[in-house]
Amino acid sequence: MSPAPSRRANDLPRYVHSDIPILPGVELIQLSHNESAIPMRPTWMEAAIRVAGAAVAYPDVECKLLRQAIAETFCLDNQRIVCSAGLMECLQTIALAWLDPGDKVVIPQHAFVFFRQVAKLAGAEVTLVPEHDLQVDIENILEAVDESTKMVILANPGNPTGTYLCKERIVELHSRLPSATLLVIDEAYGEFVQGGRYQPLFDLTDSGNVIVLRSFSKMYGLAGFRVGWAYCPSAVVEYTRRVQVPAIVSSVAQAIAAVAVRDQASVHSFKLEMLAIRRGFIDRLKGLPRIAPVESETNFVLLRAKSETEAVNLDEFLRQRGIVLRRQMAVGLGDCLRATIGTGEQMNFVASAIVEWCGKER
Ligand SMILES: *Cc1c(COP(=O)(O)O)cnc(C)c1O
Repeated sequence: MSPAPSRRANDLPRYVHSDIPILPGVELIQLSHNESAIPMRPTWMEAAIRVAGAAVAYPDVECKLLRQAIAETFCLDNQRIVCSAGLMECLQTIALAWLDPGDKVVIPQHAFVFFRQVAKLAGAEVTLVPEHDLQVDIENILEAVDESTKMVILANPGNPTGTYLCKERIVELHSRLPSATLLVIDEAYGEFVQGGRYQPLFDLTDSGNVIVLRSFSKMYGLAGFRVGWAYCPSAVVEYTRRVQVPAIVSSVAQAIAAVAVRDQASVHSFKLEMLAIRRGFIDRLKGLPRIAPVESETNFVLLRAKSETEAVNLDEFLRQRGIVLRRQMAVGLGDCLRATIGTGEQMNFVASAIVEWCGKER
């Protein structure tokens, strides 16, 4: 008999990151991962190369320089920053640090599937609550929460919805949660929110039961380096660090992220570039008969078809042209496809293909 996996491993599905079956000879347009389409800044890359030669040594376990760079950039307390090997690692570590088997976790219905996965890994019981019109609905969350709810996890803006709840709503949600319930807010797309609409949530963490998570994978385009961070109440820092694998953020990742976060001028210009491409893409799809783009505050757009069959049909049509979008069955949106905003040229090509599909015989 071979060794049995843990019950926990046995019960979990494998996280599927992508689906790439594509015809040979067709150029791949990979728009299913929400990666950045903007080329890496050479000055950022140089920072990584500079430290690579010293990588025989372990990285700084405390990520001091990176925490300092983040703290100075966003006017935060560096003692309350936890760096991680991507935001997903941070989520898993937080789940293992704060959840016991049987604990109750509340998650919006269309939220990033990984939230459920980490809660289940920790043995928690997940309650999914309905969203309203593709928006996180705080009344529904509050209805599902009671004194025994250990954690609420949501992404703002949401993935795959792309919709954003303004700070007032989050403050209200927080003010009506029991103080023993931890509110985990994933801001992987926070930097993409337009103009004056975005208000930082970091100050909410002063209350002791809020964690705000950020990633270097999306706006900074450093997905391959695996860096994220959390802004936490002090007690959360302590227990999270106890559970986290030591030295999990590589020296190369720490170095490039520290340079990137200080280069907000580049980040701002990336943002403007992406916003313009997104605007053009959505405008071209508006008013089409078979598909409706959802207004987005992120680097992707959710496309809603008239039925699941139509979504599958469009997905297959686009794949024949090398275009890979992301289907959304796992989060209850089988009639939708999510399109990452790529380069202007890519998005023109995608929009043209969708227009062509809309004009096709059914
Ligand atoms: C992409 C994404 C992440 C992943 O972040 P990493 O830093 O690459 O681990 C986390 N949360 C949401 C909602 C995402 O869409």
